[in-house]
Order: sequence, then C-alpha cells, then structure tokens
Amino acid sequence: MQNNLFIYNTLSKKKELFIPIHPPFAGIYVCGPTVYGDAHLGHARPAITFDLLFRYLLHLDYKVRYVRNITDVGHLENDADEGEDKIEKKARLEEKQPMEVAQFYINRYHLLMNKLGVLPPTIEPLASGHILEQAKLISTLIKKGFAYKTESGAVYFNIKEYQRKYESYGRLSGRNLDDLYSNTRILQGQSEKLNSFDFALWKIADSNHLMKWNPYPFRNGYPGWHLECTAMSTKYLGKKFDIHGGGIDLLFPHHECEMAQSFAAYGKDSVKYWMHNNLITINGQKMGKSLGNFITLEQLFKGSHPLLNKDYSPMTIRFFILQSHYRSLVDFSNESLLAAESSLTKILKAIEIIKKIKPSNTSTLDINSLNNKCYEALNDDLNTPVLISCLFEGVKYINSLNEGLDKINSDDIETLKNLMNTFVFKILGLENEKNNDKDEPFIEELIDASLNIRQIIKLNKDWSTSDKIREELNKIGILIKDRKNDVGWERE
Ligand SMILES: [Zn+2]
Repeated sequence: MQNNLFIYNTLSKKKELFIPIHPPFAGIYVCGPTVYGDAHLGHARPAITFDLLFRYLLHLDYKVRYVRNITDVGHLENDADEGEDKIEKKARLEEKQPMEVAQFYINRYHLLMNKLGVLPPTIEPLASGHILEQAKLISTLIKKGFAYKTESGAVYFNIKEYQRKYESYGRLSGRNLDDLYSNTRILQGQSEKLNSFDFALWKIADSNHLMKWNPYPFRNGYPGWHLECTAMSTKYLGKKFDIHGGGIDLLFPHHECEMAQSFAAYGKDSVKYWMHNNLITINGQKMGKSLGNFITLEQLFKGSHPLLNKDYSPMTIRFFILQSHYRSLVDFSNESLLAAESSLTKILKAIEIIKKIKPSNTSTLDINSLNNKCYEALNDDLNTPVLISCLFEGVKYINSLNEGLDKINSDDIETLKNLMNTFVFKILGLENEKNNDKDEPFIEELIDASLNIRQIIKLNKDWSTSDKIREELNKIGILIKDRKNDVGWERE
C-alpha cells in the first residue's frame, strides 16, 4: 500500500502531505446541493471529485467519515443575505410545501448521483434537521462578542470585531476586507447591520414565510446559509477535522464565512485541508440559465438539449470530468464528449480482452513500474489526467499482448488485471454500462459456444461453414480474431 498522498490546500496554496488528525480515521465535509432544482453539470463535478477522494482514501485503508450536507433552508437568492429563500420561492411558484420541494429534488439528486457512480456519503445531514445546533453556535458567537442581535431579533456576524481580534477575515479566499467594503453596495433593508459586510446568522421570517423555527432564545426565523455547514461539520467531525471540500464558487463568501465563524467560536481553524474543485464551462462560456447553456444531467443522458448532438451516458460524463485535473477548468462540447466516449470504450474493451490473454513463461513488459506510476499520479493531488494516461499505457500493453507482439507471465498478468480493475472500477468509479445488462453474460456464453463449434468445424476442414459462422456473427457486430492456437472475439 502506497500511502503518501499530497493534496493542494487552498489555505496554504501548497500541496501538502495528507496526515489525518486521528489516523486511521479521515473526516471529509463537502458542501452538498441546495435542493430547489434538478442537478446539472455544475453539481456533477464536486460530487465526482470528492467521490474520487472518498474512494481513494477507502482504498488506502482509511476509515472515512464522509459528510455531505443537503441545504434545504437558508440559501437565499442572493448569496449576500438578500432575496427570497430559494426553496420557499420554488414552493410558492409550484403551490407546494417547501419540504415537498426539498424532498422531490433530494430524491432526484440521489437518483442522478447513483447513475454517475457517486457513492452515497456516510452521513447526509439536512440543514433543517440541525436548527438547535445552529442556534447553539449563534449563542456561542454572541457570548464571545462576535455576533449581535438587532431590534427585529435577527443576528449578524460582526466582521469588524472579528477582524479587530484576529485579523483573519479573507485569509482563505485572499480577499481584502477594505476592498470589500469599498465595493459593497449598501443594500436596501440592510440598515440593521452594523457593517455592510456582516452576514446573517439568524433571519426573522415575515408572515408569508413557511419555514420558520423558534429555538430558544431566537424566534420566528431561520438560520443563515453559512452557519449550517459550520454547525454540521463540527457536530459530526469534531471541532478540528481533516478535509473541507466544495466548488471554487463557494470559496467566497461561503467558505470564508464558515472559517470566520468557527475560528470565532472555537478560537482555532476547524479545517486542516481546504480543497476546491474548479468549474465547468460550456463551449468556453460560463454556464447560466439566462445564457441558454444550462444543461441538466437528465438532458445530457437523454441528449435533449439544443446544444447536444446526441445523448451521453452517465459514465461518459464521469470519465469526461475525470480526464481533467479537478483544479483545472473543464470545457464541455460535443467534440470533447465524443472523444471521452471513445477513450472510455477503448479502456473497457482492453479490460475485456485481458481476460482472454494466455500467460507465457517470460514477460517483456514492466507491469510493476506501471502500477507504481498509477499510484504516483493519484498521490500527486489526485492527478487523474496522468493516471488515465498510465491506464492507456496499460491498454497499449494489452493490445500488443493480444496481437502476440509482447509476452507476459502469469504473475504479471494478474498484476495488470488487478491494476486495470482497481483503478478503472474501484477508484475512478467507472462502470462498463454494457455489463449492467443482465443478459450480457448469457450473450457472451452463446458467442463462446458458437466459436467452440466453429473450432470443431475447422478441425474437419469444412472451411465454407466456418466462414459462414464468421459472416453471421459479423452481421450482428461480433468480430472474430483467429489466432495461431485459439480464437478470440470482440464487439465492433
Ligand atoms: Zn457549505
């Protein structure tokens, strides 16, 4: 087991050796979806990035507690505390209860993530189920002098006070508080804040608001968005935990505010490693509802969006995302998706071919060094593009063995099989979607049976019948490969 994983820490802006606080345990918290709409490409990337990290840590034998929350309350239309709650708004438009809207999209999110091969987290807490924890955190912040209650009963985090005491705001995102003040508009209705950049910990609900709570000593309201992640991450992972992840779009203000809250409440940083995945653009453009390039996962799977030439399977999407390093920008286009589809097919085909390769007494290939290169790639901040190029090296080996150009002994063949299966299926989480078809093993047996009969026919030198079988199988897309001592086959 190779165990020297380096991950890029957004806080230190360096790659750091991953040393968990309480080995063999590893704790991860990732900001999950706000459940008011169908999951789109922007949801797929963090889910797949941190699924890869989760899978790799499990593979390295860590006992991983992976917490990914659901935001079902408190996320307002404007990240800076303004506008309607996203879920309340959707509920009002659809004449539903907010919890009906949340449940509907939670179910949809689970279904779509399952299709993408994303493992469920070990804990998936809901913000609405942790109102008491959030109220307790607000009380702590008030007691320590970092939050204040207004006349209306709302509570805000006091950024100036935090800055006076710790000079710490902006440390994660690199924003400068003075610049922020000069760039911030004073929004209407925000006059009860001491400073324009203070953020809400508790908001008072108006009479139309459906989601409201009365946790002592706060009343008639609901928590701010940033608060939930601090309350839930520290509840399940402790006041100091290993990894906090999320999309780079959450770095500011969400994660900066989370960091400020926990530092103010506990007097220390809660998070050891901050990890951020980059975003997805479509044909070079930012994705947005108003730009008409907003593609949901369902539309991708069905090919039902004007920008798509065809449908793309969930595994094509997963492979496409993994082809880029998680910290680089990914650009979606039909061409790049087609290329991903064809690359993935090549890898999966090779994994089928290797099952049929017979060992020799000697090896002409260095499989152990390829195996080490795969681990080195992942240990270098989850460098999946390098890992995938190593897997293509493996594909090249397999094809050359299949054509009899190289030789491999039985130990090496096991290492190569194990390497391909481990990295492709277990760690990258890819699946052979054809194998999901329950008839597939039966079909393979039928083809093998007809080829066995053909071998007997060939022994009897009945060449025309043997050719006829080849032609018939060819018609249904099966290519026969006659070799010196046996016969193989693959799909067209
Ligand atoms: Zn969060």
